[in-house]
Amino acid sequence: MLPKPNGGFAWVQATAGPALVCRALEPYAAHLFTTRPWALGAPTDGNRTAAWDEVARALGVDGAHLWRAHQVHGASVVVRRLGDAERPGEPDESFPDADIIVSDDPAFALGIQAADCVPLLIADRRTNAVAAAHAGWKGMAAGVPLVTVDALCRHLGSQPADLVAAVGPSVGACCYEVGADVLDAFRRGGFDGAARQGWFFTVPQPSAKNASMTGLPRTPRPDHWFFDGWAAARRQLEAAGIPPDQIHVAGLCTASHQETLCSYRRDGRRAGRIAGAIRCAPRRA
Ligand SMILES: [Zn+2]
Repeated sequence: MLPKPNGGFAWVQATAGPALVCRALEPYAAHLFTTRPWALGAPTDGNRTAAWDEVARALGVDGAHLWRAHQVHGASVVVRRLGDAERPGEPDESFPDADIIVSDDPAFALGIQAADCVPLLIADRRTNAVAAAHAGWKGMAAGVPLVTVDALCRHLGSQPADLVAAVGPSVGACCYEVGADVLDAFRRGGFDGAARQGWFFTVPQPSAKNASMTGLPRTPRPDHWFFDGWAAARRQLEAAGIPPDQIHVAGLCTASHQETLCSYRRDGRRAGRIAGAIRCAPRRA
């Protein structure tokens, strides 16, 4: 049984397995969030080329036309403009260190991977430009959603009012206990108490959709909080100027849904990955 996402998201069946799509993003960009049954969702330290080929094919390109990044939990941007002659290389190490990719090239899809971190996909409904970004707590404290919107505007001529954003499955405040280092990172990142309102809770926040994972402490621990990355992502996207009704959060916790989603917090080194992938549509004449 697939867990029920928030309204605005729907499950589709791809060749490789179930995938989540955002209905509001669909008219502007082919995209998906993959699940544990995909090859990428299996635990392995080995070469993931074939697993990424599966993701590429689901968006109608071959593996050589999938731009990725070597993700480093930062907020660096890679810009892939229409007509860039360069092609991505084979081994992961050949991709640039970055956690944000923006593109206006319909010949390529963009892909990022996550196992608890927030996968963020954005499309511009005026220019068709797209973005894929990855943000765990470090990336969120570094302002990845803000930087992603800024990159689309700065490099590809977007305006925030035209953007539609989808926040995919990631670990929720039902499961994600963090320590003082996380709160400090947000302080250092310039997010004051008001900005952080609703991101940190002293007790887990389970819901009908997302039960808390097993093994959480029964009583609150000093200097520990439960972090809501979805609220942090939404707040940053709104602060960047995207209208609130154009921001869509899937609301599914990776740690809560063992059958369907991949969680490092739950499974440790054995965790597979989910992908967020998106492809720019050809520009209308
Ligand atoms: Zn959870």
